[in-house]
Amino acid sequence: MNLAHLLARTARIFPERPALAFGDLEWSSYAGLAERAARIAGGLRGTMHLRAGDRVALFMANRPEYLEILYAIWHAGLVAVPINGRLHPREVARIVADAAASLLVVAGEVSDDWQIWIDCTPALRIVSVDGAEYVQLVGGTPMPVVERARDDLAWLFYTSGTTGQPKGVMLSHGNLLAMTLAYFPDVDQATAQDSIVYAAPMSHGAGMYNFPNVLVGARHVVPESGSFDPPEIVELSRRYGRVTMFAAPTMVHRLVDHVAASGGDGQGIRTIVYGGGPMYLAGIERAIAVLGDRFVQIYGQGESPMTITALSRAHLADRRHPRYGERIASVGVAHSVVEVIVADGQGQPLPPGENGEVLVRGETVMHGYWRNGEASAEALRGGWLHTGDVGSFDGDGFLTLRDRSKDVIISGGTNIYPREVEEVLLRCPGVAEVAVVGRPSAEWGEAVVAFVVRRPGSPVSDEELDRLCLAALARYKRPRDYFFVSALPKNNYGKVLKTELRRRLQHSGEG
Ligand code: AMP
Repeated sequence: MNLAHLLARTARIFPERPALAFGDLEWSSYAGLAERAARIAGGLRGTMHLRAGDRVALFMANRPEYLEILYAIWHAGLVAVPINGRLHPREVARIVADAAASLLVVAGEVSDDWQIWIDCTPALRIVSVDGAEYVQLVGGTPMPVVERARDDLAWLFYTSGTTGQPKGVMLSHGNLLAMTLAYFPDVDQATAQDSIVYAAPMSHGAGMYNFPNVLVGARHVVPESGSFDPPEIVELSRRYGRVTMFAAPTMVHRLVDHVAASGGDGQGIRTIVYGGGPMYLAGIERAIAVLGDRFVQIYGQGESPMTITALSRAHLADRRHPRYGERIASVGVAHSVVEVIVADGQGQPLPPGENGEVLVRGETVMHGYWRNGEASAEALRGGWLHTGDVGSFDGDGFLTLRDRSKDVIISGGTNIYPREVEEVLLRCPGVAEVAVVGRPSAEWGEAVVAFVVRRPGSPVSDEELDRLCLAALARYKRPRDYFFVSALPKNNYGKVLKTELRRRLQHSGEG
């Protein structure tokens, strides 16, 4: 078993199909893409002397070369370490050193940043896709696919590290193949007529969705900007048609705002898979109102990539269901390749309606954290992946996430789930974004406070928000204080850094 066979197979049976485009430009057919991957693989093993199992890190924005390098790495029996192109060079250096990568593939000119990486990992070689060495690699001699076992490492996925140092999640060929096969029943029926547009970083979930699309011979479109630009995405969708994409909730909102403001209808977009962070009820309602029934939600984490639960297009479109509102605020039902339970502190399953930690077991669950036995044992205790997310099932098997367990506020001995309060505050049209956190309180243990980003020109006040909360929530869940800020602190994946908000509360004496 080797993921590289997915590409080799499609190239054999549909050689002429368009595989890759860079913006408007057709880049290569499936035969061409597979040929380049096989040549680069030959160069990695031959000229570069890499050995099976060696790690090759990739640090760049989305580019068409991303896909050929990923497949070349697997083809050669190596391990890919994709790194978010927006990380700081020092963060990159830490990941490259932790992974003990032998090679780092970057884009652009030689820069001073490179020295930091070499200082941290002296044996490291660096190749730029824009340099002569890469041209040589592509011009090398193709090699056959190196066989790998199901449990062999394929992708070392560094977590976004909202609470600590990023850890390397070990994902095997078997994990990623299971994720690929689950895409079809649980997420979307990818077909050869589709085009997947890489709107989000290929180093993360969006890049993992290459697999089902390679498997069916769909077209892969890398936007020329290499980043998320709503007008460009709308234009590419119109140009190619039957477009699918993965987008984090913040990206969905930006796309929806753009389409609404430009009076468009999202022509050419077939499916937007959203996930990776909470999508609030008000947000998905607006998205559906503007773009229609084109959405599917997934809930996953690096440790069970893209595959914990999914909320299908059919459920998101079933407006007549008596509990429609609750359902579209949920993250859907367990993926077909995993078991998902909500458990108490001892790992015992809880009945529907009760909140506990979400645990996952199955084919997609990681093999552990790279060279971190202690964290692996902790996360995988009792044979279940402990996600650190708190939620509850309803009687039909729909999971509603409350929060990360570390973000739950305990006030007067009672658990308050920030998400519930955030959902209410976001109903106010003047509120663009909100984050609710706990502030240490001598009286209550923790007190609820809200950081609010107003929509431009909106005069929304704390009195107005308090009235909204009083009408919808138990009194003790209301924020004691509101802080109006221009933006929420986020990491490079767009996730709100609640630890940073709590730190600010402690250091600035706010409140
Ligand atoms: P990462 O490993 O960086 O992809 O982060 C995974 C975490 O993001 C999960 O453990 C959840 O806390 C959060 N997350 C992912 N998908 C969703 C979703 N659909 N709704 C709410 N939170 C999500």
